[in-house]
Amino acid sequence: MMNSMNVPSKRSTLERKLDKLILTLFGTLFTMCLIGAIGSGVFIDRKYYFLGLSKSVEDQFNPNRRFLVVLLTMLTLLTLYSTIIPISLYVSIEMVKFIQSTQFINKDLNMYHAETDTPALARTSNLNEELGQVEYIFSDKTGTLTRNLMEFFKCTIGGEIYGTGMTEIERGVAERKGIKVQEVPTSINSVREKGFNFDDVRLMRGAWRNEPNPEACKEFFRCLAICHTVLPEGDESPEKIKYQAASPDEAALVLAAKHFGYFFYRRTPTMIYVRESHVERMGKIQDVSYEILNVLEFNSTRKRQSVVCRYPDGRLVLYCKGADTVIYERLVGGSDDLKKVTREHLEKFGSAGLRTLCLAYKDLAPDVYESWNEKFIQAKSSLRDRERKLDEVAELIEKDLILIGATAIEDKLQEGVPDCIETLSRAGIKIWVLTGDKMETAINIAYACNLLNNEMKQFIISSETDAIREVEERGDQVEIARFIKEEVKKQLKKCLDEAQQYFHGVSGPKLALIIDGKCLMYALDPSLRIMLLNLSLNCSSVVCCRVSPLQKAQVTSLVKKGARKITLSIGDGANDVSMIQAAHIGVGISGLEGMQAVMASDFAIAQFRFLKDLLLVHGRWSYIRLCKVVTYFFYKNLTFTLTQFWFTFYTGFSGQRFYDDWFQSLYNVIFTALPVIIVGLFDKDVSSSLSKRYPELYKEGIKNMFFKWRVVAIWAFFAVYQSLVFYYFVTVSSSTSQGSSGKMFGLWDVSTMAFTCVVVTVNLRLLMICNSITRWHYISVGGSIVAWFLFIFLYSGIMTPYDRQVKYLLGHIRLDEYILFLHHSSSCSCCCTSGRFPLLRCAKMVLPL
Ligand SMILES: [Mg+2]
Repeated sequence: MMNSMNVPSKRSTLERKLDKLILTLFGTLFTMCLIGAIGSGVFIDRKYYFLGLSKSVEDQFNPNRRFLVVLLTMLTLLTLYSTIIPISLYVSIEMVKFIQSTQFINKDLNMYHAETDTPALARTSNLNEELGQVEYIFSDKTGTLTRNLMEFFKCTIGGEIYGTGMTEIERGVAERKGIKVQEVPTSINSVREKGFNFDDVRLMRGAWRNEPNPEACKEFFRCLAICHTVLPEGDESPEKIKYQAASPDEAALVLAAKHFGYFFYRRTPTMIYVRESHVERMGKIQDVSYEILNVLEFNSTRKRQSVVCRYPDGRLVLYCKGADTVIYERLVGGSDDLKKVTREHLEKFGSAGLRTLCLAYKDLAPDVYESWNEKFIQAKSSLRDRERKLDEVAELIEKDLILIGATAIEDKLQEGVPDCIETLSRAGIKIWVLTGDKMETAINIAYACNLLNNEMKQFIISSETDAIREVEERGDQVEIARFIKEEVKKQLKKCLDEAQQYFHGVSGPKLALIIDGKCLMYALDPSLRIMLLNLSLNCSSVVCCRVSPLQKAQVTSLVKKGARKITLSIGDGANDVSMIQAAHIGVGISGLEGMQAVMASDFAIAQFRFLKDLLLVHGRWSYIRLCKVVTYFFYKNLTFTLTQFWFTFYTGFSGQRFYDDWFQSLYNVIFTALPVIIVGLFDKDVSSSLSKRYPELYKEGIKNMFFKWRVVAIWAFFAVYQSLVFYYFVTVSSSTSQGSSGKMFGLWDVSTMAFTCVVVTVNLRLLMICNSITRWHYISVGGSIVAWFLFIFLYSGIMTPYDRQVKYLLGHIRLDEYILFLHHSSSCSCCCTSGRFPLLRCAKMVLPL
């Protein structure tokens, strides 16, 4: 609960910028209305006798009440120019985004994980385009970069290391050092099962009896078989049994015991049944039942788990397994050699990227146990602070333990992770790993997945220094806090100074920061936060180890708010939920750790490597498409409204309509609606495989190249230019035109012509911004233009001759008129669309992009 946060609502950066654009448009609308209204106030005068502005004229045209004229004209113009606000834009964007997420992201076979039958899932359609602008990725390690499939790989028993084989990380380390890796052939008798990847003949099939320390081996195997909370399921035979465990580590350990000849096959509330082989003599198999007296459960503060059991012969034993630090604190004095050797082995396992657990046991005297058990029962039945009391009682008995050895479990990297990380960093995305693991393990994993390499300059800020340890041993909490803070400040300052030197250099090495949770706690302090941010933003990769879920979220917010960059968090477990919620985009991995991360996320994928498709392909396309949709909408509405605005200057600012009502209403709904949606769905500059092969293309999104104010300004420029051409070309060229009856062209004839120009040009202009043209483009653009001609054909036919409206095509049609009409419209459209090329050329000469 301490790590939980309020669920934030997320809106994309593009949408927030769009709000600003709409506000600007409102500003423009107001200015246009104001110009018109003031114009009308100035213009209105009785000297224009033909306007009939006599005394009984309505208020809007009364020269004696100019202020009222201005006010009323303002309102008239507000309705007249309201088309400048693209109301249908929001509907179109929602439609486009919805189809993008449900049809493209959810159904992409490249993001489908066949093994688990999991497709990608867009849980919101709000953030598609945000995926195209991500600059920082915060990733969890276990289950996100790794598979979370634990396999028993090595162990150390009584100071002897067992298990051949090399982890991927060890191989990576050897390759970095230039050592040629020789494959160790697996022995003929080696057993391989999911969860057990151990190969050493010395321990298998009872061979451990000949080892230097068979008693320790026995205790080791019994500890694995007894000290757990696993439930067996299915047939009680070694081949068919299934183990249900709270964590995959635990299942792997019980499985290992099975392969060593200690087969745990049944559990009742008080008993554990184990089929033991080769214990008394080689080849003998016997069923042994152990009475489970107490279970001291695992939790994240205790970091250990113990079981008190009674052997059939009455022997009382406590078995304990847990993190090395907590077990070592509780060992009985003496046998320092064993402790030292085991510690060395643990370090070796750690640097090979293995997850380790120490095993220990202790024989209990019956009277000691009885008196402790009373306290335990009391604590267990207490109603208040039960957890704390239980922990305290556990402390009483979990001491003076005898070390048996340690296990090492491998969690392999997910398929394609190093390649994915490399591609993403080429795309300009910086990846931070936030993990609860030890520093050595985290660094090795970071090496294995290409986040760190030897050419990088690494800054390590760790609390595991002698000076800090010394102060910690003294035990004064205030002093410790003060000292570590000072130390962290010093380190940060030193690193930052050094980083700045590299940063100013032209071809300095890439930088990396590795920091542990304890130091991070102090570095996130408001006084040091800026320094941490400056340092980490200069680094291409950052690894934070031993961090709590809340710290994960704090680091994410630091970059999100402090650097104002677009962030993405990816994780698989409940401990990643707050980080997923804190970032602009949260991605959940639907793995083995339950659904909490997925439920909190915006997008869910099955594997880390699918991030490449999600960002570089879908994110990039969505971003480019939506930018086009927004800027194009802005352009088409501005162009249309401006023609009306120019007309106002020739009507004495009276608020006379240039276009027929129907034209104005149907402009956004029918004549220009569909093509822009088609662009939002199908426009594509490069294919998905090229997007992944040339990830550098993604940088355009990070820099927001397609929706800058400059881009909007260029569109606005063309809107003004084209509207001027439409208006003046059509009005001037038809000023002397006349119909077949010899009548001059009227307002509705001219405005129909201008509207034709607008519809044709705006639709053709759309084709010019498309990177790829599919048949859907032809159908929608052609369809929109045809729809207009069809509409005007029917509309002019339906209207009676007494109507004031258009009667242009039908009834009065004559070939010469029609040719004149088409000539005017098409030459005007050509002029508009082609005007773009010389102008763009000039613009590029003046302002090279
Ligand atoms: Mg995890």
